[in-house]
Amino acid sequence: MKVLVVNTGSSSIKYQVFNMDDESVLAKGLLDRVGIPGAVLVHEPQGKEKVTIQKDRLDHTAGMKLVLDVLTDSLYGCVRSLDEIDAVGHRVVHGGEQFADSVVIDDEVKKVVRECFDIAPLHNPPNLMGIEACQALMPGVPHVGVFDTAFHQTMSPENYMYALPYDDYEQYKIRRYGFHGTSHYFVAHRAAEMLGKPYEECKIITIHLGNGSSMEAIKDGRVVDTSMGFTPLEGLVMGTRCGDLDPAIVYYLMDKRGLDSTQINNYLNKKAGVLGISGVSSDMRDIIAAAGDGNPRAQLALKIFCNRVKAYIGNYLAKLNGCDCLVFTAGIGENGYDIRESICADMDWLGIKMDVEKNKVRGQKIDFAAPDSRVRLLVIPTDEELVIARDTLRLAKGTLT
Ligand code: ADP
Repeated sequence: MKVLVVNTGSSSIKYQVFNMDDESVLAKGLLDRVGIPGAVLVHEPQGKEKVTIQKDRLDHTAGMKLVLDVLTDSLYGCVRSLDEIDAVGHRVVHGGEQFADSVVIDDEVKKVVRECFDIAPLHNPPNLMGIEACQALMPGVPHVGVFDTAFHQTMSPENYMYALPYDDYEQYKIRRYGFHGTSHYFVAHRAAEMLGKPYEECKIITIHLGNGSSMEAIKDGRVVDTSMGFTPLEGLVMGTRCGDLDPAIVYYLMDKRGLDSTQINNYLNKKAGVLGISGVSSDMRDIIAAAGDGNPRAQLALKIFCNRVKAYIGNYLAKLNGCDCLVFTAGIGENGYDIRESICADMDWLGIKMDVEKNKVRGQKIDFAAPDSRVRLLVIPTDEELVIARDTLRLAKGTLT
């Protein structure tokens, strides 16, 4: 069976086609600059040359059509016709409290995705546009929604509730939801395999460090806590997001800088984080390079970034009463061994001891714990698309006759 995985953002469409018989990727690509002049599609068919296609301007519907045309192209396509694709999996960022698992998308599901526009204004509207454009072009196959929030739905109220008047939860659904669910799910299950223990018996702390970053505490197969909250702004310091903050700063800054609610939201999401501290870049490679050149603000950004991760490790070790492993993943977690080293330094009292030399690896599955470390220190490359493809297959099988 073949599954198409689609991730539609406000100005991009990412896709992969999987052959689920062996879970190989037949083609993948990224259409960028959707809705603005100068759209660019970079398509990578397995075993063939990469293709770049440029268009003047495409909306999401025309963009999806271009993607499907490329997939069926006689020269660089990966299927002869769309009939070969058995199901489509869509990444959906916010599923609110309704979805603790992936679902086959029907009108009711789309209604819930729409109801979450308010709490995920940057993500859910383009996600739904992608679903509707794809459904219109591929009406005969099941479309499955895989939610970033679903994996965290096993959290209990003492971890997902804020200390706000209870009415704010009941009326406005203000609570912690958590994001990056597919990534945490994937690496946590892989970690259990590496530990040689049933997932349901493990205590795992997953650390996803990319442009967006989040952590998760998992015990006995349930998510205990996660660092992102009502929105992806809470928790760790990120490329451009501030993470945890005294909420009083928000209205103080609005006052001082004359910002309205949209502008302060933009400020904290786009201008803060390591970019804001360093003034150099949101990209961790640039920050590391600038810090190496002696830039004091880049050095400070690195320290604050690592310090926040350490703080959450302490938080989660307390909540889990110890753990079997830390798992590093995503762009920085998989590649930034110097960052991993700073995070894991000086935690031997907590049972965390690394082998500094073993850690010096980029992009590979490793265990860099020292032999006498009580906690295993794992690096596991994430694969969010594969989680979406597997879920899509599982649910589509239930709908196919
Ligand atoms: P996204 O959240 O967009 O999926 P990624 O998981 O691709 O992000 O991570 C992007 C981040 O990974 C960037 O900050 C990038 O600088 C960082 N990164 C990539 N390679 C390295 C490296 N060798 N060392 C440190 N950071 C790296």
